[in-house]
Amino acid sequence: MATPDYKLAHARVRSRYGPAKNWFCAFCALSADHWAIDHDSPDLQRDEKGRAYSLDPDHYVSLCQRCHHAYDSHVAQYGTSGLLELFDRLYNAVPEDLRDAGRRSVVSSIGSLLRHGYLRPRRDRAYKQR
Ligand SMILES: [Zn+2]
Repeated sequence: MATPDYKLAHARVRSRYGPAKNWFCAFCALSADHWAIDHDSPDLQRDEKGRAYSLDPDHYVSLCQRCHHAYDSHVAQYGTSGLLELFDRLYNAVPEDLRDAGRRSVVSSIGSLLRHGYLRPRRDRAYKQR
């Protein structure tokens, strides 16, 4: 038996915010690779494999592979305490010129901005149900 809720949760995030690759990493600001669960989510659930998920798309952040791995490892080892230090470490480990290059690649064209959602901020939020 598959794990429909886990898959549904990720499908919801992609449906609302598109692929994570369209966003910057929330920690280091390079290009993101994955949608990662916020381990502090109030409604955190676990599937039978122990994977954490939430059915609320707003409880996911876009992270690059490096930061996602560091985040999940930190939470597995220490829980969600000490995360600010982790964020600082991950952010500061990236040279500023690398971050600038990533930003420039996005803002180099109107089409690129559109694809990344920057010219239509909150375009999906209208459907949010609370
Ligand atoms: Zn990152």
